[in-house]
Amino acid sequence: MGEFDLIRRYFLPLAGDTRSAAVSLGPGDDCAIQQLAPGTELAFSIDTMVEGVHFPVNYDPAHLAWRSLAAATSDLAAMGADPLCFTLALTLPEAQCDWLQGFADGLGRAAASFGLALAGGDTTRGPLTVTLQVHGAVPHGQALLRSGASGGDLVCVSGTLGDAGAALTLLGEAEPAPDARYLLQRYHRPEPRLALGRQLRGQASAAVDVSDGLVADLGHILAASGVGAEVDARRLPLSGALRRQAGEGAIALALYAGDDYELCVTIPPVKWERLPESARATLTIIGEISDTPGLRLRHAPKSRPQASGFDHFGETS
Ligand code: ADP
Ligand code: MG
Repeated sequence: MGEFDLIRRYFLPLAGDTRSAAVSLGPGDDCAIQQLAPGTELAFSIDTMVEGVHFPVNYDPAHLAWRSLAAATSDLAAMGADPLCFTLALTLPEAQCDWLQGFADGLGRAAASFGLALAGGDTTRGPLTVTLQVHGAVPHGQALLRSGASGGDLVCVSGTLGDAGAALTLLGEAEPAPDARYLLQRYHRPEPRLALGRQLRGQASAAVDVSDGLVADLGHILAASGVGAEVDARRLPLSGALRRQAGEGAIALALYAGDDYELCVTIPPVKWERLPESARATLTIIGEISDTPGLRLRHAPKSRPQASGFDHFGETS
């Protein structure tokens, strides 16, 4: 199968209705062309996943596709952007039909679920690597930045934290029990918080998605905003599955493990009161921004766990 047959067979079907994503020219020419509605700005982000670094060797191709697109799309959610389209740069050691079909199926499901159309890409031979660039639109000046937090803002996180981190030790299980299955699902099929990001536009003072762990990612907000924070580890939202599976280690996973793709946001108390009920139900208040720099963790375990994941560049590698 030649390069162009491969693209035509597996990837062009995912271009779908690119017009709905304001793509006036999809795959097939030298460039794709993106339209932007008047009064909107383009938010775009690129993410690379390398086999053995960001995902396990021989990882299921449908999971790989979903996780890769979810990780990239999570950055759009963190900016409060509406998803438009994406491009795919795929490097493969060989063109293996079953693998490609699994990958294309997973990618198609994720793209449809997140509301993204495939606008183009690049296909090359080499060590397995998936690079995705995502495009989103935000009303002019309304993107949620990392730099807007100020003293007195509430610190909140969406969903639950630590689940994907707990799944890293379960990846090899042949017949996982229900809790393990739940945690594995959280690792394999993260759901970018697009609806929440949209609800937070004009409300949150800062936002970041939790890809590298809460302490690291909240740290980005604090550094960019020139502020500090007090966080109470007892308030961290933990799933029942994580509590049962990790026991005393649950809090450390929620603080330091990555891959959950939840949002960490700061919001002034008056704006918290005005958030739609569905947004407040998704978020948990875990602390408060202060003018004194640094992150002060209350009731946190003394030692942080050893890095055990695929994303801990510079710690285990
Ligand atoms: P060029 O050499 O002009 O960069 P390519 O030969 O790389 O173009 O690609 C030809 C067309 O196929 C382009 O429109 C490109 O966007 C599209 N394409 C290539 N690989 C993929 C892919 N994996 N998924 C979707 N579209 C792709
Ligand atoms: Mg060209």
